[in-house]
Amino acid sequence: MKRSLDLNKFKSWKPYYNIVLDTTTYCNAKCPQCHRINSTEGAKLSFAGNVVKELPLIHVPFEKIKKTFTQQELLNYNSIQLCPTWGDHMMHPQAAEIVEHFLSSSWRIVVSINTNGSMRDELYWWKLCSLAVKHKSRYHNRRLHIVFAVDGIDQEMHGLYRRNTNLQKVLDHVKICSEFKERVIVETQTVLFKHNQDYLEEITKLCKEYGAEKHSSVISDRFGEDDQQAENRNVYTFYDENNTKLSLNKVTKDWTDKFKKRGAQINRTNIADLDDKPTCGWSLTNTLNINFDGNVWPCCFFGNVAIMNKKSWTKHHPFVQKYYDYNNNIYENKLEDILKNDWWKELPYVIQSENPVRNCVYSCSNKYKEGQFRIRKSLD
Ligand code: SF4
Ligand code: SF4
Repeated sequence: MKRSLDLNKFKSWKPYYNIVLDTTTYCNAKCPQCHRINSTEGAKLSFAGNVVKELPLIHVPFEKIKKTFTQQELLNYNSIQLCPTWGDHMMHPQAAEIVEHFLSSSWRIVVSINTNGSMRDELYWWKLCSLAVKHKSRYHNRRLHIVFAVDGIDQEMHGLYRRNTNLQKVLDHVKICSEFKERVIVETQTVLFKHNQDYLEEITKLCKEYGAEKHSSVISDRFGEDDQQAENRNVYTFYDENNTKLSLNKVTKDWTDKFKKRGAQINRTNIADLDDKPTCGWSLTNTLNINFDGNVWPCCFFGNVAIMNKKSWTKHHPFVQKYYDYNNNIYENKLEDILKNDWWKELPYVIQSENPVRNCVYSCSNKYKEGQFRIRKSLD
């Protein structure tokens, strides 16, 4: 029997790919809701790899990256987003060299870096941005895009979540990079909680003063669906560096409603509300997630859980169990061949079946959540 798919909710991946690539599991920051951080009592916001054995503290070797992402292979790519799931790319010892490799290999590629921005010095950021001048192309005026995290109007507000980072240092780096506006897009982003929701306009103004030309704001939705915090989905409790118990509160319902009225959309879907069938925003935007271990996943929701609880998470669904029967590792197998295997062919039908994978229900349907609302605006 011929099976049909709702193509408004799923599209197959094909060249030119967009990828989100993890190059390191190192980070200078200690954001309590980050998957790499252990925020439980006594852990003092340490690296979660101490308890999640599958999470090693590593940088992906530059040689390995170059061997896989050859000049020829990179012709198949559109954008490479260095966006932390397990670490901040700017902590990689060869952070700038990796960016230069991508920019110099294919003139089509745009490189995006999402960073807390509180590492390295102004000269390093200046040199990084100068790579976009050196490798300008006729396809795009601006091939380097840097998104800095700015979560408050002062250190206290910024640092409640973005712990172990220095707001002034971040803003100074925003300023340096914004001097390259003709070749670099400089954006700032705020993760919203109750403690900063009413300061969003002031945060945006501050970012603009330091030269950001776009600002996005996103409501944190990491308040637990199936974990130990599920009894209170509006409060995230954690223990800080001194083992003091602290809380992060979710944005209020009234404020979320106003945010939606102002045009907030669910990340990668361009829609304002999820429904009961999962909307696969990552496939709709032709984006794939590649973990630090090289495994290619349809999205970071899969990539996350695969590391946090490797293999045992597959038990809930026979389809997920089959993932490890194939070589889905980009450092060992070509992306083109990975996407041709039966697991990837079957994926959309499973997502749209009566029994989807747990991640798809949790993250991309309205069964357990409302989605990760985001507004992105120009600061011109
Ligand atoms: S800056 Fe990003 S990678 Fe680093 S701890 Fe915070 S959320 Fe995690
Ligand atoms: S969780 Fe499922 S539906 Fe959502 S983006 Fe990932 S693969 Fe697509």
